[in-house]
Amino acid sequence: MKPKGESLVASGAAHFNAGRPREALADFEAAFRLGVDRADARYFSAHARLSLGDIPAALDAFTALIRAFPAHLPAYLDLASLLHREGRLLDAARTLRAALKRDPSHAEARRRLAELKTGGASAAKAFIELSLPDGPLRVPRLGNLPIEVLALLAGVKPVIHCWASEADLPSFDELCRRLRLEKFVFPRAAGSRGAERLGVLIGRDAAALKKTARQWEGEYFNPGQSLGYPVCCTRWYYSHVVDKKDDDLVHSILRHTRRKKDLPWVLNNVFYFYSRVPSVQAGARRQKLFAKNPGLDLDLLNLITWHPCSYRCAPSLAKAAAIWKAAQRAAPDLAAALRACLARPVVFWDWSRFAVLERRAGPDLSYGAIEPPFSLLEARLLSRLKGADRAVTTSSGLELWKGKTRLGLLGGSPAPILLDFSA
Ligand SMILES: [Zn+2]
Repeated sequence: MKPKGESLVASGAAHFNAGRPREALADFEAAFRLGVDRADARYFSAHARLSLGDIPAALDAFTALIRAFPAHLPAYLDLASLLHREGRLLDAARTLRAALKRDPSHAEARRRLAELKTGGASAAKAFIELSLPDGPLRVPRLGNLPIEVLALLAGVKPVIHCWASEADLPSFDELCRRLRLEKFVFPRAAGSRGAERLGVLIGRDAAALKKTARQWEGEYFNPGQSLGYPVCCTRWYYSHVVDKKDDDLVHSILRHTRRKKDLPWVLNNVFYFYSRVPSVQAGARRQKLFAKNPGLDLDLLNLITWHPCSYRCAPSLAKAAAIWKAAQRAAPDLAAALRACLARPVVFWDWSRFAVLERRAGPDLSYGAIEPPFSLLEARLLSRLKGADRAVTTSSGLELWKGKTRLGLLGGSPAPILLDFSA
């Protein structure tokens, strides 16, 4: 090695350790130009890029380091953390698996991979177990069904509806036996899409189920009342939302909400896609969104099973409180996950483009990291958000600040809104 290159690496490391990433990077780059290629120099320079906030360059630098020095295990771990932070959980898991292939006894890599997988495995489980006074009850993970059952236990929903396939039917029998409910199965209308060919209704009153089933796919059927939704919300949905396909209903609900600060998190419906996202066109996008969040079941990230007419709707709040009580009692793990994901500020464009923020103490809406669930938001908007630490709703739009510096409007289409679900 040339002595000049050697001393540049040494001074680069000294700059880095003294908290001067820019100077460190300059020295390392100069050393690389002299033909120096050392794993530690590459590693420090990747971290220097990270300190400077240049995430794409840091990702490239860690990846190139692993390619050139495949035995450098810290690089795998740091790359995995970075990918995780960026919401690329599958890539993070792949990187950790590559590290374990090099060194199967690497405890830290194993622990982190297990962490990623625990979520993935629990999301893939076919049942959610509810603990009831007379013993555990397994509820099939069919769409939003576990939440619906909690709403039923809470006395909020008289009737549950879901689409199912023939193979799912036995699990409903157990559910009905335990909860002393009736079940009514009807074939789905010809021409409807999806593998689930059967409609299943569950409730206490067999005659009511039959009547609901007969009306289900009729043109003028409004299932809200049979399912126990607040009348104001059902009316609002049909008069303001149902025909406005281009406007995500979250925008209309916030417009219809009087005080927009400190919204009650129990009414957060940002991740509740039913009766909102046209499933056919959005199918691929929905899959992508789910793939971005392998540790989370997005089908279960809602406490209320309808869309509120406003984020201050009193009947919705009363029903939500009852469901929350039932969730804490019967499904404490699910309740904890719900609260962790729903009780947060969200910057929102549409159902597949949003950013969940870590709230920080401070003026306006001060925030730290972007938290799960992650979305398909454009990288450009995501990096603008990450470059700021405060968001302010103004008359011209959502404005970003970093410390005392105004960074300008956030932008994107449609114009983003801030939903501060922190009450
Ligand atoms: Zn309402």
